[in-house]
Formats: sequence, structure tokens, C-alpha cells
Amino acid sequence: MPYRMAPDIYIYQSSIWQTNSVVILNQTANIVIDPCYFPAEVRVIADFFNRKRSFNRYVIFTHSDFDHIVGYQYFKNTKLVAHDEFAFCDRDSQLVQLREIDQTYYVHRTIPFVFPEPEITFRNDCRIPLKEDELVLFHAPGHTGDCIFIISPARGVMFAGDYLSNLEFPFVNFSTAAYKRTLDLAEKLVRDYNITSIVPGHGDIAVGKDEITGRLENDREYLLVLTEWAQDLFVQGLQAREIAEVLAGLKYRNRPIEGAMLKMHMENIKLVISELQTF
Ligand SMILES: [Zn+2]
Repeated sequence: MPYRMAPDIYIYQSSIWQTNSVVILNQTANIVIDPCYFPAEVRVIADFFNRKRSFNRYVIFTHSDFDHIVGYQYFKNTKLVAHDEFAFCDRDSQLVQLREIDQTYYVHRTIPFVFPEPEITFRNDCRIPLKEDELVLFHAPGHTGDCIFIISPARGVMFAGDYLSNLEFPFVNFSTAAYKRTLDLAEKLVRDYNITSIVPGHGDIAVGKDEITGRLENDREYLLVLTEWAQDLFVQGLQAREIAEVLAGLKYRNRPIEGAMLKMHMENIKLVISELQTF
């Protein structure tokens, strides 16, 4: 059974990467955000979604990473919603990663995955009307170029995609400067819409101002230290390899970054160095 976080909002969590799928069954519309991941899991979500008939049916993608888009084909007669930049993502890279994970874990998809073509896209913001509520979508680039935040003003909930997870430090695939601005945007939206819960793409829901502020500060701190330290070393004339060696020791939430997470951290370091080199 899904976790019911509000009378019309339900959260399903996949057994891989604790990936969250959201179902909203409102009188005006049926909405699913990032349906994922294994076919059996997505089928359960789709059955639940279909138990209420609605003329307005939407699938909203928080961004174009494969783990967030993989289940949409199970939701028939829906309109796909994403940011304008979704059209420019690196599809091949996403397809390669999906294939690799599916091969590794012997995942069989009876409906072969086809990359989605969203028909509702937007540049700055977008509104989807609901009975006694609405969803407000904002561009939130940084993790990828096409990330969005989704807000339910009446419930005080923000669906954050791959931001503000309790499991991950920032994974910056697009731009560190954009990522920092997006954390500022998140803080502003939390204030303006009186957000009391944040549902991240992966991990636990952040409930309450203290938890939300804590996550914002941890992610800001990581990015600030990463970029400023890299800049110092760069100005001192260190080579990229040397800078990477030093920055590998950076801590997140006062703990060293180790194991599988170290690979993601090294990717961030590579991006920061390339940003310094092209500046
Ligand atoms: Zn993700």
C-alpha cells in the first residue's frame, strides 16, 4: 500500500534507490509524478491510478533521468508534462544507463521502453488546476538542465525531484552555479508557499521547517566548499588530477564520502574543474 501523505496524495517507494513515485487522485484530475521503477512496481501504481476515472490524466516528469521516466507507458491516455529543456537531454546516455541496470538485474520489460515525448512543456512556470488546489511547476536547473519543482499550495507540499534528499549530496550533472540558484529558489518557494513537507526523488520525506532547512544547509555547504576549495587550488596552479585528489577528501554532513557515493562525488569534482577551466 502507498503512504497517504494527504487525503489525495499518495507516495510509492521503489525497492531500488528508494525512488519515490507520487499519485494524486483529485476530483479534477489523476496525476502521477515520476512513475517507477520495476515493471511489477509500476503495474501496481497504474492499477491504483486507474481505480478513479478522470477526464484529466497527467504524467509529470521532474526531469529526464531514466529512473524517473521509465514507467510512464503504463499510464494510458495521459498527457505528459515536462520542462522545455527535456527535449534537449542526452537520450542515448539515459538509454545506455537503463539498459545496463536492466541487464545487471535481469529486469524484463514486456513493454519496451521508448523515450517519452512530452506534449505539455513550459519555460518558467506552469499551473495545473485541481479542485480546491493546483500544482505549480517551476524550472529548477542544476542537477540536470530540465529539472522542475512541483508545488501543491493547498497541502504545503513540494515535490523536489533529485534535490534535497536525505540519502544523497548534490549530484551536479548540469551546473554548480545553477544548482546553487535552485537551492535559493527552493528556500524562497518554501517561504512563499509555506511548505511543510518536501518529497524528494529518493529517500525520506522531509517533514517540518527544521528538517527542510537542515537539508538545504547541508547541500549548500557541500557545494560552497566544493567550488571554493576547487577555485583556491586552481588559482594556486595545481593540475586537475591534483585538485581531484585533494577534493576527494571533502566531507558531507561531517562524514567522509565513501564507497559507491565516492564515484558520484568524483563526477562532481570533474564538472567543477571543467567549469573553472572554461571560465
Ligand atoms: Zn533520480
